[in-house]
Amino acid sequence: MTEIPAVPPFYEEEHEEFRGLAREFVAREVAPHYARWDAEHLIPRSLWTAAGGAGLLGLAVPEEHGGMGLTDYRFRAVLDEELVRQGALGVALALHLNDDWVLPHLLAHGTGEQQRRWLPRILTGDLVTSVAWTEPGAGSDLRGVRTRAVRDGGQWVLNGQKTFIGNGISGDAALVLARTDGRTDRAGEDGFSLFLVHKADSPGYEVGTQLDKMGVRASDTAELFFEDVRVPHAHLIGAEGGGLRQIQELLPQGRLAVAVAAGAVARSTLESTLRYTGERTAFGSRVLDFQHSRFELAELTVEVEVTEAYVQRAVHSFNAGTLDVVGASKAKYWASERAKAVTDRCLQLHGGYGYILDYPVAQAYLASRLLTIFGGTSEVLRETIGRDLASDG
Ligand SMILES: Cc1cc2nc3c(=O)[nH]c(=O)nc-3n(C[C@H](O)[C@H](O)[C@H](O)COP(=O)(O)OP(=O)(O)OC[C@H]3O[C@@H](n4cnc5c(N)ncnc54)[C@H](O)[C@@H]3O)c2cc1C
Repeated sequence: MTEIPAVPPFYEEEHEEFRGLAREFVAREVAPHYARWDAEHLIPRSLWTAAGGAGLLGLAVPEEHGGMGLTDYRFRAVLDEELVRQGALGVALALHLNDDWVLPHLLAHGTGEQQRRWLPRILTGDLVTSVAWTEPGAGSDLRGVRTRAVRDGGQWVLNGQKTFIGNGISGDAALVLARTDGRTDRAGEDGFSLFLVHKADSPGYEVGTQLDKMGVRASDTAELFFEDVRVPHAHLIGAEGGGLRQIQELLPQGRLAVAVAAGAVARSTLESTLRYTGERTAFGSRVLDFQHSRFELAELTVEVEVTEAYVQRAVHSFNAGTLDVVGASKAKYWASERAKAVTDRCLQLHGGYGYILDYPVAQAYLASRLLTIFGGTSEVLRETIGRDLASDG
């Protein structure tokens, strides 16, 4: 397939070298097992330690903590592309939560002591983390969070409930958003704090029901309950009362991660559809040779390339330290909506087989349905983008 080349090329030699490592890892450790993990709704912990051993976790962790300090997001994008190419979006999502939603908080706001204790374990896959912000009564609107933490000497006493928590079953610790100003109203941006709460040494930390998702089933998603959980003050991440501001500050990386995954889903689905329509025949010709199919695929190809160019621009902007919440929201909005539309139209080109879960296009369709919801819904993203326009006007 001839593409308009990016000028200069998006990936350089070092990224392609890393791709070789990632591709080999995914082919060996993920692809042969992924269908089973999907059926079991669980990625085994051995995958995390294998990924840690291969140097694929915590890419941005600095060398002083044993990491590689790869803050260039193109390396993360390569890993995503390789996982998505093999249909393992559940693994990509599980790694996102750890590396793009939790790790940035530890890197930007963790104390020296917190970083020394936890970063090496994140690198080896011995500490798997989850993001515990959403509650039954508060998703898009985190000011509605009711989970509360009350200071008691050198500890905090945590009570509340979270839902939709990825890695909630398999993970060891959750980055919990809790109200710390003793109030319950919606006021007070300064009333929330973040805590890294460890499951093993926290009586009262209960994992509830595993939620039965329509797609990306290998990534476990659960409810969490906290009843009088005593959390050491040393597990407060960042400033007391600064939780919501920290989330806002670090949202660009999380939203960029979803945009990158969405671009990869759209690309790999387009490629598998080209292969399928090139092999499948009807009325004596290949499906690819019907004028309607060619027009569809021509349009989809341009959409995928435009999406990639837009996401790549966002990655460059992130690397330069200039990607703000609005920019990341635009990239996530565009790429996730495109992934949803592209996978839908590609499914149609597969006929009945597109509806069968054994086919990658069916899995991609279900996975992409999540991408316009998780990490900021498309409606909330348009609000963010629109408010920015209005404030400029
Ligand atoms: C599979 C899965 C995994 C997830 N993983 C995690 C996780 O690991 N950790 C975590 O904390 N959360 C997680 N989430 C939660 C996810 O981020 C929320 O579902 C999402 O933010 C939306 O919140 P909500 O479900 O409460 O919907 P609501 O906020 O109730 O929204 C309902 C509808 O109202 C719309 N809406 C809301 N506000 C506005 C507005 N201002 N203007 C216009 N429309 C609006 C929404 O777009 C949506 O269409 C996950 C969700 C899913 C489905």
